[in-house]
Amino acid sequence: MQSGRPRAVIIGAGIGGLTAALCLERAGVDAVVVESVAALRPLGVGINLLPHSVRILTDLGLAEHLDGMAVRTAELAYYNKFGQRIWSEPRGLDAGYRWPQYSIHRGALQMLLYRTVLERLGPESIRTGQLLERIEDLGTEAAAWISRRDVAGPAQPLVADLVVAADGIHSVARRQWYPHEGAPKFAGQLLWRGTTVARPFLTGRSMIMAGHQGQKFVCYPIGQNADGMCLVNWIAERRIGGGEPPRPSDWNRKVDRESFAPLFAGWKFGWLDIPALIAGAETVYEFPMVDRDPLPQWTFRRATLLGDAAHPMYPIGSNGASQAILDAEALALALRDEPDIPAALARYEAARRPATAAIVESNRQMGPERVMQIVEDRAPDGFTQLYDVISRTELEDIAAQYKRIAGFDPAALNRTTGLAPPGSGP
Ligand SMILES: Cc1cc2nc3c(=O)[nH]c(=O)nc-3n(C[C@H](O)[C@H](O)[C@H](O)COP(=O)(O)OP(=O)(O)OC[C@H]3O[C@@H](n4cnc5c(N)ncnc54)[C@H](O)[C@@H]3O)c2cc1C
Repeated sequence: MQSGRPRAVIIGAGIGGLTAALCLERAGVDAVVVESVAALRPLGVGINLLPHSVRILTDLGLAEHLDGMAVRTAELAYYNKFGQRIWSEPRGLDAGYRWPQYSIHRGALQMLLYRTVLERLGPESIRTGQLLERIEDLGTEAAAWISRRDVAGPAQPLVADLVVAADGIHSVARRQWYPHEGAPKFAGQLLWRGTTVARPFLTGRSMIMAGHQGQKFVCYPIGQNADGMCLVNWIAERRIGGGEPPRPSDWNRKVDRESFAPLFAGWKFGWLDIPALIAGAETVYEFPMVDRDPLPQWTFRRATLLGDAAHPMYPIGSNGASQAILDAEALALALRDEPDIPAALARYEAARRPATAAIVESNRQMGPERVMQIVEDRAPDGFTQLYDVISRTELEDIAAQYKRIAGFDPAALNRTTGLAPPGSGP
């Protein structure tokens, strides 16, 4: 690390931690990223990046890379369980944003960020195989106590001006500060995720959701092949109820599709064959729908939480990765503008904690997907005229309300400036 510049230790090389390293570098802060896995691999399936987070990645100079590896989402549409359309809205550039919305493979995005951090911050900037055990406040500095996978022995301190814990939903730092919080909260729903090579559907760049809270299917393309086929990311969801998930949350848990495929056997809509999508995936992963209650405090003087460590939320409204990216920029702006580190971290928390708490709460009320449940409740056997079931105004209000809460209202977002030099946006 260079002298004179503030030094940060970031725990976790996920989407949040890696983006934070890039944003901090822009803000004049040196960062080292500590990651527990021995080697990063492109894990996960598809995620969505909403325009507000794409603005930040564009400011970081990644727009061209993203464009080459992601699909520019053009439309989001909700259907009932019979494949009848309830609502659709344009997305990204098609909706008047200055930045696209991307559907992308999580692992591919993580690898792009990983390579970029190594290029810009140096080959020593990411230390894999190293685990955070605890954070210590040293007064004028902070220490992350780190143990190594390859070397036996006690944890060693990594001392810096600040520590950022971006260590995900099972955050060690969060457990240190909130030792009685316990496991993530289960919503009573199980998610099964996979990717399947399939023929394009609808616009070829549509994200769709069908069903209702009890049983739902979401899918969207995350890549296009030269032969006209695309890689479709899908999530099948089923309410099972109960206070505890049947198995602990693990992003990489593989599962036999026969445990849920029969539930979707009849979901052939003509324009989309859901049983075929489920059958065509090479691997299927299971994840329980979990989140955690919003916290009263993220920042403890020179240490703070970021991303899923701070605000794990239900995967509704495509916000998990996007909000981690927004945190990263907000942290960098606070450190750029406020030289006193504890004051800067407090400023970051003030900018982000209430905003993300509102999304956690809104996602518990199903966010914009509420329209699907309303239609299921009012017309469980399907409908002839949609507007006899739900009015256009009701549909529009629900969609607009969520955009305001999640910070991607088009007019407000298009006025935003972040870390980019003035006039450098699209
Ligand atoms: C392997 C994996 C696969 C995922 N797949 C999907 C998916 O398919 N769809 C989806 O919507 N979301 C997925 N997610 C979650 C999604 O990436 C996050 O919700 C979102 O991007 C916010 O990212 P984050 O950086 O806050 O957390 P994460 O992406 O969870 O990253 C946290 C990082 O911290 C590391 N870490 C944890 N504990 C420690 C420790 N003690 N010391 C050092 N490092 C530590 C983890 O290994 C991880 O790399 C996945 C996460 C992971 C880790």
